[in-house]
Formats: sequence, structure tokens, C-alpha cells
Amino acid sequence: MKASRKCCKCDSKEIYSNSNQPSRGDRSSIAGANGRVSSSLWLHVYVCLGCGFVEEYVRPDVLLDDSKIAKLKSEWESVN
Ligand SMILES: [Zn+2]
Repeated sequence: MKASRKCCKCDSKEIYSNSNQPSRGDRSSIAGANGRVSSSLWLHVYVCLGCGFVEEYVRPDVLLDDSKIAKLKSEWESVN
């Protein structure tokens, strides 16, 4: 939905995102293993108002944060 600007489930173009909002709230982040905000991965959330499908992406600034990415790699399991 982020790139196509339409829902991949129902083709609706009624897509809204929190990408213009400041980082806040428990549904806009994934807490680190210890639950501290300092290790949270802030998310951009896209929701389809046609069917309710939700898609989430880690914010681009977080992807450039070497300490957060190193922590994620040390705690999470690679799928490849
Ligand atoms: Zn949809």
C-alpha cells in the first residue's frame, strides 16, 4: 500500500497513514525485548478504509539508527 497507494487486498484507494504524525503511542512502535522506549522501533502504519487491512513499516530514520538495528539483530531471529 505504501508504494502502490492502493490496498493489495481489496484494491481500494482509501488508504491513510500516520507517517505525518510524531512518533508516539504503543501501536506506532514495536518495543524492544526489555520494553524500554529507547529501544522501540517506530512505525509508519498504513490502513485501508475499504477492508481494514493494515500494513506497517519501520520509520526510515530508525533504519539509519545503527544502535537500534544492532540491538534488533542481536535479539531477533533472521528469517534467511
Ligand atoms: Zn482494503
